[in-house]
Amino acid sequence: MTHKPEHDLSDEKWQAILSNDSTYDRTFIYAVKTTGIFCKPSCKSKAPLKSNVRIFNNYLEALRDGFRPCKRCKPTGEKLPNEEWVAQMKFYIDNHFHENLSLEKLADHCHGSPYHLHRVFKQVTGLTPVNYIQQLRINKACELLDHSNLSIAEIAEQVGIPNTPYFITLFKKKTGLTPAAYRDKQIKEMKEEKYHDESIS
Ligand SMILES: [Zn+2]
Repeated sequence: MTHKPEHDLSDEKWQAILSNDSTYDRTFIYAVKTTGIFCKPSCKSKAPLKSNVRIFNNYLEALRDGFRPCKRCKPTGEKLPNEEWVAQMKFYIDNHFHENLSLEKLADHCHGSPYHLHRVFKQVTGLTPVNYIQQLRINKACELLDHSNLSIAEIAEQVGIPNTPYFITLFKKKTGLTPAAYRDKQIKEMKEEKYHDESIS
């Protein structure tokens, strides 16, 4: 197996983590796969399991891979820029939209109060987190209606809205059609396209 050398956990780096050696703070940061959090070498948090550690050259790389900064050692410096914070929220939503996802849960995972998170998200994206989640769920539902034979109830469940009547209402509100009508229309359009293709050739 080949690794990028900069991601290798050398003995030297491991020792720096174990001894909370601040002289390495500018050299690398480490993330812990099981918690999804990254720290400076000097962080006083409990030493992770060696096999769960990932090394990064800087915090931007760790953010890009979906890790979150530790609240204790603040490895991103004083303050996380709002854009970066919203990117973290989106990353979390994109990976958890099919679960029961509340603003509180999101706030908990992205380290902030629900109120603050809502305000910053809206300021950066123009959408509230709830709107963003709903839009994502409806888009995924459209994909499933197009490309699967799953029932409406199954699709509702898969996109994180297990209450089917509510799913139907929301879907209609966002697209103007019920899920069943949307699927019929797609099937009809596909047939027509096929018919046209055949009549051309
Ligand atoms: Zn830390």
